[in-house]
Amino acid sequence: MNRPILDLIGNTPLIRLDGPSRATGCEILGKAEFLNPGGSVKDRTALGIVRDAEARGLIAKGGTFVEGTAGNTGIGLATVAGALGYKSLIVMPRTQSPAKKDALLAAGAQVIEVDPAPFSSEHHFVHISRRLAGELNTTRGAAYWANQFDNPANKAFHAGTTGVEIWEQTGGRIDGFIASAGTGGSLAGVAQALRTRKPDVAIALADPAGGALYSYFTEGELKSEGSSITEGIGVGRLTGQLTDLAVDHAYRIQDEDFLPILFDLVATEGLSLGGSAGVNIAGAMRLARDLGPGKTIVTLLCDAGARYANRIYNADYLAARNLPVPPWSQAHAGLST
Ligand code: PMP
Repeated sequence: MNRPILDLIGNTPLIRLDGPSRATGCEILGKAEFLNPGGSVKDRTALGIVRDAEARGLIAKGGTFVEGTAGNTGIGLATVAGALGYKSLIVMPRTQSPAKKDALLAAGAQVIEVDPAPFSSEHHFVHISRRLAGELNTTRGAAYWANQFDNPANKAFHAGTTGVEIWEQTGGRIDGFIASAGTGGSLAGVAQALRTRKPDVAIALADPAGGALYSYFTEGELKSEGSSITEGIGVGRLTGQLTDLAVDHAYRIQDEDFLPILFDLVATEGLSLGGSAGVNIAGAMRLARDLGPGKTIVTLLCDAGARYANRIYNADYLAARNLPVPPWSQAHAGLST
């Protein structure tokens, strides 16, 4: 059985990004993943994982999906679970912003907050979520651990939907695809779908500061350097989604590089996006310059700016970190009220 809300996941439009296209002489197109009902690209991951668990008989009617995540995957999972009569239990570190917990609760998730711990510790929230799923699974299918980082259903769903949609929407006229990676499911899945259809399409990674994949793809070693205000991207390990992936280009994108691009898109195109979309677009412009003018490059607009109102679009937060601020935050600084 399907519910209409699930039919709204995917089939997102491609938006031409005028400023970045003009600046590079290429067609830079962004896939509007922020239009998914849960507000992000991760609705697809959630739907793919839930459908896969159903198909393999691993979740019973009214069962609980369990995941360790603080962000969009939890919101997606709660949305999909709600639509299909399942429950969702999300384990997140206590250090996350209250806005994230609120968004998860509003999406229908049961939230358990735990103390922060390194990934190598058994107290890390991902490992806690795996154990909880095991404990709750007292009868077959009572609970299922989503395991987005290593579950093959993540990449497979992106290959079958995101990648195919991009191919069809561009009519096969696509020269490059670039994305950042959280789990790597969207990058690797789209890469697989496009390369099957056009082996010489350029696949590229955009990595924020602090991510270890840039050095992995350029030097063969996972090394992290610096930090970023972006959320949901910049992994430190080779996840199950990424083990088979080779990229043609990799770029490291600093916060000060992508913020002005995001602010320009708000002010001149009415498009307010999250930080990972900023990294992706800045990366698309680097790829455009490397491939040369006249090419068509696609990237993902993973979520919208409103989710980051108190960070990426907050002048005080940015100024305290010596980062560029939105020009409109200062436009009328001298006005008396
Ligand atoms: N952008 C945002 C805002 C995200 O939440 C995520 C997922 N963590 C990504 C990008 C990366 O997606 P993926 O997991 O497919 O690599």
